[in-house]
Amino acid sequence: FDRLKQSLAKTRDSLAGKVESLLKFSTKIDEDTLEELEEILITADIGVDTTEKLISRLREKVKAEKIKSPEELKEALKNEIINVFPEPKFDIIPPAIILIVGVNGVGKTTTIGKLAYKFKSKGKKVILAAADTFRAAATEQLSIWGQRVGVDVIKHQEGSDPASVLFDAIQAGKARRADIIICDTAGRLHTKKNLMEELKKLYRVSEKEYPEARISSLLVLDATTGQNAIAQARIFKEAVNISGIILTKLDGTAKGGVAVAIASELNLPVLFVGVGEGVDDLQEFDPNAFVDAIF
Ligand code: GDP
Repeated sequence: FDRLKQSLAKTRDSLAGKVESLLKFSTKIDEDTLEELEEILITADIGVDTTEKLISRLREKVKAEKIKSPEELKEALKNEIINVFPEPKFDIIPPAIILIVGVNGVGKTTTIGKLAYKFKSKGKKVILAAADTFRAAATEQLSIWGQRVGVDVIKHQEGSDPASVLFDAIQAGKARRADIIICDTAGRLHTKKNLMEELKKLYRVSEKEYPEARISSLLVLDATTGQNAIAQARIFKEAVNISGIILTKLDGTAKGGVAVAIASELNLPVLFVGVGEGVDDLQEFDPNAFVDAIF
């Protein structure tokens, strides 16, 4: 929790700091208070739609006289934010194939390394599939992570078919009795149609070659991009069935509130958050801890 709290320091400044000073000068809770609160939430990247929903629920409670003091307003706000997050339903039941999708630069490769480390630490056998064959650097970087964490990486030459990399990883996974295959994917959003076709093909190969496996796709989003992350998520959601979100780079950004907007506007669970560049800097997301850390 301390690590999370430390990571969210800037978000806390922009959110809790402002909420505190608003409430300090509010002797009673009225429409003005709610309007100012609305502005604070929008500035903290919680998103316009989500903020309006939160404020209208608070307004009802104020009307029903369930909220009278600034302390009660703050508590009610925290509760409403916690309620925004869908229940994270993500069990890894081996054999599992996890496709990691997202735009270049959001932290996909790093996250795969961290995830592999996490699963391995829990006693699972992991294999990585370097299916971002578009960039030679991506395969190289994944190999470095594989070495660092001590898991096998299946790779082909630059430019080869991503689906054939996954095909090989599945064969290796079966032969080596791996529990989890984590598959990197390309993230070129400007060739949207190709990218989406490629992801669908990876899905088809998984289903065909490994019918026993549970297939999920996790979308990696970069918290520092704020509302842009929501736009990316919408595009990916059109193409693949997203099981959940991994929100990276929460450390050092004031835009951590975007986690609330993602959960509310896309109705997708945030499963993990990245809080640094190290192998151990990936945490399972807990809405209660998150809300405590930003207030
Ligand atoms: P990819 O292009 O999506 O595969 O992104 P990379 O995994 O190469 O990451 C891009 C940069 O973001 C690298 O410098 C990573 O070290 C950094 N990065 C990834 N996740 C985090 C995080 O949670 N916190 C911080 N501070 N940096 C991160």
